[in-house]
Amino acid sequence: MWESIKKFFGINYKKTKNRSAESALKAMKNIVLFGPPGAGKGTQAEVLKQKYQLVHISTGDVFRYNIKNATALGTLAKSYMDKGHLVPDEVTINILNAEVEKNVDANGFIFDGFPRTAAQAKALANLMTEKNAQINAMVALEVDDEILVGRLLDRGKSSGRPDDANEGVIRERIAEYYRKTDILKEFYQAQDKYYGVDGVGSVEEITVRLRGVIDTL
Ligand code: ADP
Repeated sequence: MWESIKKFFGINYKKTKNRSAESALKAMKNIVLFGPPGAGKGTQAEVLKQKYQLVHISTGDVFRYNIKNATALGTLAKSYMDKGHLVPDEVTINILNAEVEKNVDANGFIFDGFPRTAAQAKALANLMTEKNAQINAMVALEVDDEILVGRLLDRGKSSGRPDDANEGVIRERIAEYYRKTDILKEFYQAQDKYYGVDGVGSVEEITVRLRGVIDTL
């Protein structure tokens, strides 16, 4: 029976199987969406997760969710976020691991706002190795600092985010980025995984630029 069905539909089982295994491998993409505060990571991650069927993990969103729900983690995170500082690595790495574990069946991930320190980048590499996977690329949105400040102040008018409401806190976040995060470009460059993309333009234009990179991975 099966033989005649195969013949009728022209199915070559072996071929079909190989092709789907290949496309599954190709579809597995783990991307670090990178850039300073206000570069547009969250906006683009929302678009890209749909297009590529990836799970979007934003550590900032996890912290804000916990603040909203008044958890112990939220209280701790808030004490750093309100000053424009990074939440300690140990806490953030545990959160990230837990978020990845919640999505064992994912096609891949978009990491937004993680890693932000060398220790976080190493932890992420270890986690990927444990999963028999890897980070395929760091795609960075490049935007000048003064544009960032303007965007964040603008967002602060409607986002309700206290860290966007105060220019001093915004500038401290950007300073923290240069102190601890910017160096990660070199970490990924050394592995030939760094892709810089101009982050100024319309949301759609920037998505096209990002897809230009992601489609080649
Ligand atoms: P933005 O990119 O606009 O700064 P996020 O939502 O990514 O916004 O992060 C908000 C804040 O959450 C950061 O300023 C920081 O205090 C904290 N945070 C988010 N991700 C991390 C991280 N990976 N390590 C440490 N702190 C983090």
